[in-house]
Amino acid sequence: MIETLIAQERKIVTAIPGPNSQALHKRRLSAVSGGVGATLPVYIEAAHGAILIDADGNQIIDLGAGIGVMSIGHTNEQVVAAVQEQVAKLTHTLFALTPYENYVEVCEFLNRYTPGAFKKKSALFNSGAEAVENAVKIARKATRKNGIVVFDHAYHGRTNLTFSMNFKSAPYGNGFGPTAASIQHVPMSYPFRDPEGMTGPEAAQRAITYIEKRVGVEDLAAIVIEPIQGEGGFLVPAPGFLKTLSDWAHANGVIVVADEVQCGIARTGKWFASEWEEGFEPDLFTIAKGIAGGMPISAVTGRAEIMDASHPGGLGGTFGGNPVSAAAAVAVLKQIEYGGVNERAMQIEAILSARLNAMKAKYPVVGDVRGRGAMMAIEFVEPGTRNPNKPAVDAVVKHAHSNAVLVLTAGTYYNVIRFLPPLAITDELLHEALDVIEEGISKL
Ligand SMILES: *Cc1c(COP(=O)(O)O)cnc(C)c1O
Repeated sequence: MIETLIAQERKIVTAIPGPNSQALHKRRLSAVSGGVGATLPVYIEAAHGAILIDADGNQIIDLGAGIGVMSIGHTNEQVVAAVQEQVAKLTHTLFALTPYENYVEVCEFLNRYTPGAFKKKSALFNSGAEAVENAVKIARKATRKNGIVVFDHAYHGRTNLTFSMNFKSAPYGNGFGPTAASIQHVPMSYPFRDPEGMTGPEAAQRAITYIEKRVGVEDLAAIVIEPIQGEGGFLVPAPGFLKTLSDWAHANGVIVVADEVQCGIARTGKWFASEWEEGFEPDLFTIAKGIAGGMPISAVTGRAEIMDASHPGGLGGTFGGNPVSAAAAVAVLKQIEYGGVNERAMQIEAILSARLNAMKAKYPVVGDVRGRGAMMAIEFVEPGTRNPNKPAVDAVVKHAHSNAVLVLTAGTYYNVIRFLPPLAITDELLHEALDVIEEGISKL
């Protein structure tokens, strides 16, 4: 049905953006706040699998999945059916007033599949930033402490609290008023840029020393860390970094929050990226992007006693855990549970890893290839150095976009191209998109 409407193939029928997109963009510029960005102003009308169709009929290969949201694929049949069925039955009550079953079902799924062999509970919200905000509230309430430690290159959102937790002030926080108090930034493990040979435990010790000297543990409620950093450029910490940190935290009564908003939900070939590091034991997880096929919903899941520390009425919100979004989440989670989704992420890793490493061997502008599953990136440098090469990234991205391949950038130095395809992408489409990327690199 939907498949036959949108063939999984790239098609260029006009310049990109074409005339219809350009006309829409003109309307947008006069109607929409200039504070909202525009990476590629082609206006999308429909999508399926890994193909986006724009207002001019171009078919674009999607390597970004709306920043890792559409992992299950655009217009996944089971998600569409679940949403259609739910929307005709019930769209809102407010769970804290009169509850409904699928909110509970999403929580049961998350309690079961987040790592950690202990009793867990969950609460649902609307966005990743809202989940992070609530994890911080919950950790503070449970510990009766205030301090929050975050890491260099981190990204946690655009609300007042979460922009204060980001590494980069620009563009997320600068000029938007006072930052939140009691947030401390400490060094991350960044194998490509750390001193040669620095191990994970050594990088963790560097962070711990910083925490002990600069922050102190007396008032430290939680450390919040992305097990694989997203916006920071898909930094995979050196082995042992996360375990050493969580061991230290637990020895000191500090809660460990894994921000899995981007790397969670089958993106890296496991339910949660935290599972890749043995001995890493987060107490709380924040979950959002890939969970509901694009419907807005997020969660905090974790140790029952921590999740229950908040008084009744302290957590929640009008729309949090909306029944339509929850129905979509159940449809996604059931497919992962059924099997094949994590496996697909690993097949995508095999293709990405082979192709990107071949590019690294051939083109000295490609300094590093890293990531896990369907979450991989290449970092561009000036050949023969580690100096960030943003102009090279800009040129490759421009080439990709004008050839109907949507690809995203990342990184503190804006010198990383990240690959976050829908897991529904076919091998053929992925290779075709990578051919376009390689062509862009070869033209530098
Ligand atoms: C995207 C993201 C957020 C913020 O999520 P929103 O839904 O945009 O508020 C938080 N943490 C991480 C790791 C993210 O990638």
